[in-house]
Amino acid sequence: MSRHSPEGGLIIEWLAGRRRELRDLISNYVAIDTRSPNEHAAEPFLRNLMRSIGYELVSAGDWERARQHPDWSPHPAAQAENVAWVGRPRSEPDNARPAIVFNAHVDVVPASTDQAIATADDWVSGRGSCDTKANLVMVVEVLRCLQELGRRSRYCVRFHLPTYEEIGGNGTLALILADAQRSRPAGAICLEPTGLFAYTGHRGCLTYHLKIDGRSIHMGSEGAAGDPIRAAANIIVALGGLEAELNKEVCSQPGFGWTRRPLQVTVAQVSGGGWIGSSPESCLLVGNVGVAPGASFEAIEARLEQLGRRVVGDDLILRWSFSTGLRNHPYVSPNLGHLQELVDRSQSGGEHRIWSASCDARHYQRLLDVPAVIFGAGSLASAHTRDERISLLEVEKGAALLAEWLAERSI
Ligand SMILES: [Zn+2]
Repeated sequence: MSRHSPEGGLIIEWLAGRRRELRDLISNYVAIDTRSPNEHAAEPFLRNLMRSIGYELVSAGDWERARQHPDWSPHPAAQAENVAWVGRPRSEPDNARPAIVFNAHVDVVPASTDQAIATADDWVSGRGSCDTKANLVMVVEVLRCLQELGRRSRYCVRFHLPTYEEIGGNGTLALILADAQRSRPAGAICLEPTGLFAYTGHRGCLTYHLKIDGRSIHMGSEGAAGDPIRAAANIIVALGGLEAELNKEVCSQPGFGWTRRPLQVTVAQVSGGGWIGSSPESCLLVGNVGVAPGASFEAIEARLEQLGRRVVGDDLILRWSFSTGLRNHPYVSPNLGHLQELVDRSQSGGEHRIWSASCDARHYQRLLDVPAVIFGAGSLASAHTRDERISLLEVEKGAALLAEWLAERSI
């Protein structure tokens, strides 16, 4: 990773001289509250950012078709607003060079109440800093760097700036459906906090809701039915076993050797109970299940239903629902084409790796059949946390890597 050409040295020097501007751009973007459906608050910032490199920001997206599409996410919060943007060069005709799409979602997950933005010489913290606001700024700085150093990019870079990524990916779906008439890109890079590894696929994700119904009765009385809260506790333990099984099944598949826990079975919410002097009436569990490439949502649903019956028996009524939340398909890009060189240059060193989280990259492979990789500065372990942060050094390193990949070779 330290092998840079003399021109690579110039790029690194240029980036190091922009440290203050880099920090200001990232912290200004992080300061805008873009929790869904508030992404439109970032539009003036995004317009200025695009303008600063000779790009225009255009609102885009075929929401009518997206809503009819089988990949539309059933998340209820995703219905509220229809907005997403494309960033494109003002002047260049579309077909002059192969196009590469950089996808950087504008939305962030809700912040912790005590979360504040802070900056230091070499980092910025705040909700959305690494997931994924710094990564959009990183690519804009790459293009600015190439322009100022008089270097031409081998690809026409376009931006997809979707909404709703964190709640299922409908923004990117709408952008791709609206773009379908244009020439297909040669590849798509979804900007996410991957520690500068380039992942060539991701696992899928299915949200479940399980309502366990009993019948509340005075504590101490005879004839109490099963207890939904105790049943929920047993199901939570069994879900841990299911996770272990799923990971055992997938560990020999290509792309999963780098991690022990690529598929997670989570319990994100537990609610229920009732009057303190009664046995509980019901309990609700909500969570996600990781889905391996090749596995179907229906197969996972059937396994969950079996697990519930096995653990609880017939004492209580189990109502599973899979129609609200994430239904993110897994994907793998088998042929990387123009993106192969980027994967070779990334921290993965060309190794095929499947990411242990999901994002919008799947839409490009599934809908357009173009290679898609997931790449960016920042750590997944920092994303969505109360001290989410991004290292500016890492952003500069990622920018140098991208700039050297994009720059046309001088002969
Ligand atoms: Zn993200």
